[in-house]
Amino acid sequence: MKDIEELWEKRKDTQGKIELTVFFVNIFLFLCHIFFMIIYAVIGHTFMSIINIFSILLYLYYIPRSYKNIDQYMGMAFLEIWIHQICGILSFGWTPCYQNWCFGMLVAYFLPAFNPEVKSAKQRPMIYAIIIIISYFFMATFYPLLHLDMTIELDIYKNSILFIANNSFAFIAISLFALFYTSSSYKKEKELSKKAEYDELTDLYNRHAINEICTKLVSIAKEKNKAYHVAILDIDFFKKINDKYGHPSGDLVLKKIANILKKHSVKGIIPGRWGGEEFVMFAPHYLSYSVFTNILEKMRKEIEEEQFEIENNKLIKVTISIGSTSIKDYITVEDAISKADTNLYQAKKTGRNKLVK
Ligand code: GH3
Ligand code: MG
Ligand code: MG
Repeated sequence: MKDIEELWEKRKDTQGKIELTVFFVNIFLFLCHIFFMIIYAVIGHTFMSIINIFSILLYLYYIPRSYKNIDQYMGMAFLEIWIHQICGILSFGWTPCYQNWCFGMLVAYFLPAFNPEVKSAKQRPMIYAIIIIISYFFMATFYPLLHLDMTIELDIYKNSILFIANNSFAFIAISLFALFYTSSSYKKEKELSKKAEYDELTDLYNRHAINEICTKLVSIAKEKNKAYHVAILDIDFFKKINDKYGHPSGDLVLKKIANILKKHSVKGIIPGRWGGEEFVMFAPHYLSYSVFTNILEKMRKEIEEEQFEIENNKLIKVTISIGSTSIKDYITVEDAISKADTNLYQAKKTGRNKLVK
């Protein structure tokens, strides 16, 4: 019980999620076989009842264990499903569709090969898949030739119950596994694309993303024959902050400045970290340059007045210099920023803590 509580707790990390999924798959298979027990009792089929008892005992055994050794569990479950479906086919023939479990198994065992979250060996899902596909066609080809004595013809009602049960379980397995693997791949993809676009420390767009996004903004302005505006912001004497209070304190200042930038990025302004202690802000064509520079000035003042909390709850003062410009030509984002950079240089040269526009 304690183990399962721990498993539930672990569900937030990737491995925990996989373990929890395996746990529920085991419960699902256990319940399926309880259901089959009722069907076999109604049909009155001793051989399949005995086979099914083994299946129930197997999944019962694995309830507190399935997630501890996933590879072993996957192997055992594979063997059980495979044996059960062959016995089902030999006992009742092709029409109740035991063979359709192959499709559920294929999704469950094959999809992990393409899922970055699942660490198990890449070859193993392929081996499972090959066995499943070959055995399906083998059964389909040779079963009609066998004419076994043990195969009984079920009446239409019993046959229908087994047909519905087998196909439903196969469909449920296909849907659930496909959902699990595709949703976890999708989440991973989203995480990776966020990492590629955002600066980890400040959670602002990184240089690459700014180049990409603002290129679109420049194109739109060009199409409309309007000006767009650019600003580059640089923390004053930031090296001294690092030297005096340490790099982690410098990081705290960068984070706080980034948050102030985000707060002032209204009306379509796009903020980003250009590199080191330099930030950029891009304003779209529909914002007038005076509105943009008013926002920049307000932001500069707010930073000047702010107390920055660094390590050991110390409070320090920080200022920034800003160079901004309004551009109508169609130039690259890098070139637009270097134009603003000339004004930043002026701001630095003429005393810092100011906006040169
Ligand atoms: P100025 O007023 O002329 O801009 O002086 P400055 O000291 O701010 O400029 P300088 O270019 O000499 O120093 C920038 C410093 O920023 C140097 C570098 O160590 C620091 N820095 C760059 N990236 C980071 C970072 O991610 N974290 C921290 N803590 N420091 C950084
Ligand atoms: Mg700098
Ligand atoms: Mg600086």
